Amino acid sequence: MTVVPASAQATSMRSHLCGSLRSEDIGSTVTVCGWVAKRREHGEHLAFVDLRDHTGIIQCVIPGTVDVRSEYVVAVEGVVRPRPEGTVNAELPTGEVELGECTVTLLNAAEPPPFAVDDRVEVDEGIRLKHRFVDLRRPRMQSNLRLRAVVNGALRSAMDAQGFVEVETPLLWAPTPEGAREFTVPSRLSPGTCYVLPQSPQLAKQLLMVAGVDRYYQIARCLRDEDLRADRQFEFSQLDVEASFVTQEDVLSFVSEAVLDAAEAATGERPGEIPRMTWAEAIDRYGSDKPDIRFGMELIDLSPLFAGTEVKAFGAPCVKALVLVDGAGLSRSKLDSLTDRAKKLGAKGLAWFRVTAGERGGLALDSPLDRFLSDEERSGLLSTTGATEGDLVLVVADQYRLACTVLGHLRLDLGGRPVGEGPYRYLWVVDFPMFDGVDDAGHPVSAHHPFTMPHPDDLDRLESDPASVRSQSYDLVLNGWELGSGSVRIHRGDIQSRVFAVLGIDEEEAHSRFGFLLGAFRYGAPPHAGFAVGIDRLVAIFAGEDSIREVIAFPKTQSGSDPMTGAPKAVAPGVLADLGLRVIPPKD
Ligand code: ASP
Repeated sequence: MTVVPASAQATSMRSHLCGSLRSEDIGSTVTVCGWVAKRREHGEHLAFVDLRDHTGIIQCVIPGTVDVRSEYVVAVEGVVRPRPEGTVNAELPTGEVELGECTVTLLNAAEPPPFAVDDRVEVDEGIRLKHRFVDLRRPRMQSNLRLRAVVNGALRSAMDAQGFVEVETPLLWAPTPEGAREFTVPSRLSPGTCYVLPQSPQLAKQLLMVAGVDRYYQIARCLRDEDLRADRQFEFSQLDVEASFVTQEDVLSFVSEAVLDAAEAATGERPGEIPRMTWAEAIDRYGSDKPDIRFGMELIDLSPLFAGTEVKAFGAPCVKALVLVDGAGLSRSKLDSLTDRAKKLGAKGLAWFRVTAGERGGLALDSPLDRFLSDEERSGLLSTTGATEGDLVLVVADQYRLACTVLGHLRLDLGGRPVGEGPYRYLWVVDFPMFDGVDDAGHPVSAHHPFTMPHPDDLDRLESDPASVRSQSYDLVLNGWELGSGSVRIHRGDIQSRVFAVLGIDEEEAHSRFGFLLGAFRYGAPPHAGFAVGIDRLVAIFAGEDSIREVIAFPKTQSGSDPMTGAPKAVAPGVLADLGLRVIPPKD
């Protein structure tokens, strides 16, 4: 990261930044500019003003009175001097000094702020967003915005250093089949037709490969009209990457380099090589395709133990367990709420076993199901899970995938911690399945997107057993958040047609939806592959925040509105007429 010295940030109006003054500056006459953080008056002869800019606070001592209030914008000229004995403030980096003999010039008055510009004050998020310009003055938000710039800078430098070329792609675009609902922009020049805001530059970057760009990247704004959550906004930024004549290995290496550089720039420490896990292993061990590997609590397979069981509740293709160390003390109502949670996630039920002290120094199980277990099952459950006195064993019996994912959620509910809490544990998840579930018409649905190349070893099962086909796609995970995904793309028309056929996309539909891409592929498409890293999530984790809204200057609320601008707003009738649109009032 380039650190610009405070001295280089002098302007015609100021000689120094508030937070930069130290004992070394004692004796210098300086001018600082900023916002009044606090004003105190000692009688008629002395006033104190704490002046804030983005670098911190400096105490200014003014002989006489001063007519300024909180958040007034002022310039203060004074002499740096040591604070009188006993008044040094060890909490402030500038706490050893103050500005004495100050003259204050009012640059602009301000109304009382809607809330104190102070990290220690909790303010309702709606109010923060309505006055975001005040909220962003807080040190935490200033530091988040600057951290974001540092991460962007490091990502850019890493991509430049690896020979990638930054190319901007259009925001007014055509639909991209990546599964998310898109924002539609009506066209004025061709009423009745629309552009689509890109959910990612996926097709544009593939076209750039046909165009011979070879290595493309972009810090790209992506737009998806989806329900908002802590890790999701309508608009977000990705480090979008695509390269030609490369394999999956090359892409993992390019992206690792950029992300590790960004991590180093943001945290001061370069993480080691990012480990890998196959998708199948991630599901099996953690019940998630984005496992949080900061903690254990791995799922344990009890299927062989209960293969021929008489216990009705365990008569399922898969029986999986999770141990909560020291969890035997959970109350009955807590266990009931865990059972409800498991049912909401799709399980038929949740079995629980408290491990207690048994006879003759052994262990016993406290559970409504215990009396149905054979001795062998009881001891097998204990030995396979390794649970000991005081632990709780949770068991789900169901179809394999469901049992794993239900326990994967319970694992996070019981053992998870805030995403931004260290250590940072990165993971590449590779060998995703090609398809995930089926649509209403019974056609398999792409797990990544329809341009993802099937795994070469599985290609011959594409039509006969699509559910078993792996793809050449990969995700990057950090502390249980998906940081991004990518894949090797299909560059051959014959394979693309087969994949479309499996997805139930006929030739006519393929042509109308993305004929421009398929057409371009006839003119010499090189083998290519790519990736996209979610920058908002990456920065939020580095900033120790658990919502991406904290690292976005002007985010939307959870309900998709912007309390500051009032967006989204009704459109004036004239604009609608220009666009050839009529609004159907929503029912109720
Ligand atoms: N376009 C994909 C996404 O936005 C990333 C990729 O495959 O490169 O998730």
